[in-house]
Formats: sequence, structure tokens, C-alpha cells
Amino acid sequence: MPGFADRLGRVQVAATMQMTIRAREMRARGDDVLMLTVGEPDFPTPPHAIEAARQAGLRGETKYPPVDGLPVLKQAVQRKFTRDNGLDYALDEIMVANGGKQVIFDALMATLNKGDEVVIPAPYWSAYGLMTQLLGGVPVQVNCPQNNGFRLRPEDLAAAITPRTKWLILNFPNNPTGAACSRAEMQALGEVMLQHPDVWIMCDDMYEHLIFDGFEYVTMAAAEPRLRDRTLTLSGVSKTYAMTGWRIGFCGGPKNLIRAMSNMQGQATSGASSVSQAAAVAALDGPQELVAERAEVYRRRRDLVVDALNTVPGISCHRPEGAFYVYPNIAGCLGRSTAQGRVLTTDEDFSLALLEEQHVALVHGAAFGMSPYVRISYATDEATLTKACSRIGAFCEGLH
Ligand code: PLP
Repeated sequence: MPGFADRLGRVQVAATMQMTIRAREMRARGDDVLMLTVGEPDFPTPPHAIEAARQAGLRGETKYPPVDGLPVLKQAVQRKFTRDNGLDYALDEIMVANGGKQVIFDALMATLNKGDEVVIPAPYWSAYGLMTQLLGGVPVQVNCPQNNGFRLRPEDLAAAITPRTKWLILNFPNNPTGAACSRAEMQALGEVMLQHPDVWIMCDDMYEHLIFDGFEYVTMAAAEPRLRDRTLTLSGVSKTYAMTGWRIGFCGGPKNLIRAMSNMQGQATSGASSVSQAAAVAALDGPQELVAERAEVYRRRRDLVVDALNTVPGISCHRPEGAFYVYPNIAGCLGRSTAQGRVLTTDEDFSLALLEEQHVALVHGAAFGMSPYVRISYATDEATLTKACSRIGAFCEGLH
């Protein structure tokens, strides 16, 4: 039989996906499973974005687009960076990709040599480490402890950097904790990075607009302009405008990096879908009130979930600044047995038993590099969230 590449052995299916698949199987056999696993908004795409895609299609904008993005979208991204982030990027410092995910892949693909280290603050979105490994790099985990609001401490960052470090990846508001850091905290991290001129910095701002209580998030290139020429600022329309299926992400960064990334993307997928790019232009240039309105809905849901979970024995839940996740600590549930006799030793045991016994699907913290926690996505309606929290309560009250 023909063989497969060695690199295949270096990646696994993400745990988020595994739990979602298991939950869907249970649903298919008729179980009433509540899904808190999925990292995508439950809102629809704004109608003006859908209409723009339709119109673009009818106008015949259905040909191969340039690899690095249609000029109209790059201009809209340029305006977005000025408006939202106070960053001025030239058009050759901007690139469009098939989702934020491809921006990350292009960047790592264009820069990583075998054995290069990528510093990844934990808890992290698992894609960073999986892609790093796939490309022959070495993920280096730095813990962001709960007692620091799940934020990265400058001294921990400094200790993680070695002569092999190629990248630091920052992600605020964070998947899976929802944590965001302030301008002063970003500047303190920037101070550390100024000491290491050979390290690229990726600032994954995918959740930048899902931020609550007036918290001001500032991306690295704006907080520390001296790092701008080696910082890749990444965002997209997926989370902000509920456009996950359109697959449009974008970034701003130094011209030489953007050119190298575009070269990689040209080998893989070429440009992103032309009609999706038209939709993204409409989302970025259209009315922005929707973004704040939806953030307010997420804020209410966050409070609902955090307040409910903090009444559950064995669970303590930090109240994060943004995104649509909470990351409750479940230490108080471990070492105990469930109503049906399952012994809970790890957060994975907890999430599997909760799925089997109470039909609530969430993802265990080990998948994000910090235990014993679970990640709950609250990108779903309040009725589902209330029901899910009460099932989690029943599950924990049944432990002995
Ligand atoms: N960055 C983070 C932190 C994410 O959580 C995700 C999606 O879950 C992405 C990037 C990728 O976004 P996209 O759907 O645009 O590829």
C-alpha cells in the first residue's frame, strides 16, 4: 500500500473537534445534548454582507482573485486598522487569507525551520501548537496562571525565550479563557520583546471586538510601536461579524513577511473566495453598531454563566474581559465519583462523564494546555445556557 508522510504523525485531531463529533453522534441517536463546545457565534451574518456577496456574484466578480486579496478588501482592512487599532499599514503590508487560521499557517510556514521554537502562552488555542509541530517547530508553553487573570507575566515570558525562539504568539481576548490584557500589560510584554530583536510576534486579535465593561484592548503594534516592524497583527470577520463560514481573515505586518506569507498561500490555496471578500468589505465598511450590540448580548451571557457556575460545589469560575468563553476551575470535583460511579481523576474524565450523564458537551482544559479546567463556549442562547448550568450543577451535586 502506498505510504503517508511522516508529518502526519505529528498532528492529532483537536479535542474541540473530538468532543463536538462525540456530541453529534449522541444527538443523532436521540439524546438531548447541549453543545457548549463550538467556537463560533450563534448570530447570523449581517444581511448587508450577504447582499454584497450576491451582488458581487451577479456583477461577475467570480474570477480568480489576487493571492494576497482584492484591492477593495485590502483598502477596507487598511481603514479598519486605522479606525479600530490606530495602525497605519500600507497596502503591501496587508494580506487577506482563507480565515484567520490560514494567516497563522502562512506565517509559520514562511518562517519556521526544523527545531525553531514558538512561545505559546497557555491556556492556548490548540491550533498554534499543532501547526508548529506539523511544520517541524517546537511549541514552548508558558503558563498564564488564574491568579494573574490568565494573563502572561513579563518575567515568565522572558524566561521562556531562548536563542532558538522564532515566534511569540499572543492572543487577547483569549481562546479559551476570555482574558484580555491592558495597554500597560501589553507594554510590559513589549519591553521584554525589545530585548529579543530576532523574534517575530504574532498578535491574534480575532476576538478584539468581543470585549466587555468598557475594557480597552490594545494590540502590540500599537502599544509598542518599536515592535511594529516584526509584529504580525491578525484579525478577521469570523467572530466579529459572525462570518465563520465565509473564511476571510486578514493581517497587517512588515512587507517582507507579508510577501513571504503570500508566496506560501499562493502554493496552497491562492486567493480567498472572491464573493466572500465582497461580503467582508461590506461588513468592515458597513454599520458597526451591530458589533457593540452583540458584544452586550455576550456580556449578559457571560454573567449568566459565571454567576450560575459560581454557585456549583467544586467549581470556581473567573469572570473574563472578553471573547465568548469561560474557563472554570474544576479542581474541587476531582478525586470524587459521579452518580453513575465514574471516578473523576482529570478534567477529561469530568467532561466525558458530564457528556454521558448530563448530556452537556464542553472541552477539557488539557486540550488547551492548562488543567484542571474546562472551556465553556457561551455563544448560544440564554435558555440553553441556563439549562446547561443547571445540568452541570446537578452533575456536581451528585458527586460523592
Ligand atoms: N484565532 C483564534 C484565537 C481562534 O479561536 C480562531 C477560531 O476559532 C481563529 C484564530 C481562526 O479564525 P478563522 O475562523 O477566521 O480561521
